[in-house]
Amino acid sequence: METFHGIPVSPGVAFGKVLVLHSEDFFAVSKIEISIENVPKEIIRFEEALTKTRSELFGIRKKIAQDLGYEQSDIFSAHLLILEDRTLIEDVFSKIKEEHVTAEYAFSLVIQRYFQAFAQINDEYLKERVADIKDVGRRILQNLRGEKKDSLVRLKENVIVIAHDLSPSETAMMDRQHVIAFATDIGGPTSHTAIMARSMEIPAVVGLDRISREVSNGEMIVIDGNRGLVIVSPDPLTIDRYGKEEKRFDELVTELDKLKSLVAETLDGHRLMLTANIEFPDEIPSVIAHGAEGIGLYRTEYFYMNRTDLPSEEEQFQAYRNVAERLAPKAVVVRTLDLGGDKFLSSLEVPREMNPFMGWRAIRFCLTRTDVFKTQLRAILKASHYGNLKLMYPMVSNIIELKQANQILEDVKSELRSEKVPFDEKIEVGAMIEIPSAALTSDILAREADFFSIGTNDLIQYSLAVDRVNEKIAYLYEPTHPAILKLIHHTIDNAKKAKIWTSVCGEMAGDPAMALLLLGLGIDQLSMSSFALPKIKKAIRSVTLKQAQEIAARAMEFHTGDEIKRFCELKLKAILPELYEG
Ligand code: PEP
Ligand code: MG
Repeated sequence: METFHGIPVSPGVAFGKVLVLHSEDFFAVSKIEISIENVPKEIIRFEEALTKTRSELFGIRKKIAQDLGYEQSDIFSAHLLILEDRTLIEDVFSKIKEEHVTAEYAFSLVIQRYFQAFAQINDEYLKERVADIKDVGRRILQNLRGEKKDSLVRLKENVIVIAHDLSPSETAMMDRQHVIAFATDIGGPTSHTAIMARSMEIPAVVGLDRISREVSNGEMIVIDGNRGLVIVSPDPLTIDRYGKEEKRFDELVTELDKLKSLVAETLDGHRLMLTANIEFPDEIPSVIAHGAEGIGLYRTEYFYMNRTDLPSEEEQFQAYRNVAERLAPKAVVVRTLDLGGDKFLSSLEVPREMNPFMGWRAIRFCLTRTDVFKTQLRAILKASHYGNLKLMYPMVSNIIELKQANQILEDVKSELRSEKVPFDEKIEVGAMIEIPSAALTSDILAREADFFSIGTNDLIQYSLAVDRVNEKIAYLYEPTHPAILKLIHHTIDNAKKAKIWTSVCGEMAGDPAMALLLLGLGIDQLSMSSFALPKIKKAIRSVTLKQAQEIAARAMEFHTGDEIKRFCELKLKAILPELYEG
């Protein structure tokens, strides 16, 4: 039995079989020389591996097209093209013939040369292609080795996925029925991969450093998403302990789900809106099942991922209309395209940047690529006729950007009016507050916005200069840093003066101790992964507004993030011991 420590990013406990998706050294193959007579045999083996990979990819493409739609399956057309690359194939043949080595070794050398060549190209689109080549290369190598392969898209049994890293798009493709947990070497608590795990409601641990090299397929492990532990080959006592914990966790979830139809109201009658964050429309049943009062953040960029073209206006309109209709009369806040940071789109040619989180992204990108922006705004406005939609812009850093975005929105509205296309004339438009400059000038921004949505995930990263996906500095990523509380407080105060409402839609909103603090700071709405809604509701329903205000006031007096965190957790523990233990 061996225990590894990482960062807990999605709660719960899972015990099961490992599926190593890819370790860092997957393509490192030992050199094995062969006799000259065996050269034709190796060439045939390589050809057979290519044929097998091709038929697998055709199968997956078909399955994805059936399950998720044609657009989602398009990524595999790109994969199939790689298999047709004559230069790559000929290079492998010559290596086998000239150096008398196995097909595995020859292929690993050639493919690694491709990776290196691509890594040096200064083009984000081509950089994305490396991921495709890696994916295809992995399949070919697995077929050569005769390894049993389990694609994450179609699994036969429950597995715990272990990988060096998982991209948000890979996570999006996972077979949600059979992936019961995952753990990765790298990543931070608010990386989008972690956020996806929470939306899938499976335990996950990231930042484990070397886990992908330490475990092998089929090994039994425990993932403790509450404490950030991975236990390899657990002894019977540990399995028993975790079995009980899993049961307790499930009981608590069932207990909390009973609050579903109740409102989030403090003991002295103060109402708060509790809404859900979604990445995909297929999360809507879970949103409804957990009793959300609407969707406070619909991250539309996932719609643009895993595909080689851009979604058309009609396609987006149908998708947003569908979400609007399913939630109506409840509100859905659609966030306009927020690409960049750790989310890249294969369909858009965005140059590689030194600091992608601080680069040409989100609203900055949309204000330049107005063609892409207008298409999305038209689709959102058209869909607003069929439900209760609001829209908001990500990464606003100053009033000029907000005014420009609003001007483009007005232009799009005029277009629709002249085309006699109906839309909600009173649609509310919000600004995300996720850059310190936006929080500090929220009095100015409030003049151009109907509401604010504080994106604490980014606000923390930019205020504290801590990359949200870097596990090495994750200890500095403190939602309770006094600077963060001051920025949130300032934003809420300015919003109240301007008589507009404020939401927090970052991951901080889904932590019960933080929810009490935010309630005390005067927040109007909290939006989170839907699984977190019941426990947040329970916390809100267990205090008075006055109590929460006292917690917030005391918290603001401390000097360090750690003191504030411990203080808020102690308060929650005193108010709600059972929730805390769960
Ligand atoms: C945030 O930054 O807090 C946020 C909600 O947006 P995202 O996590 O998608 O960057
Ligand atoms: Mg953000």
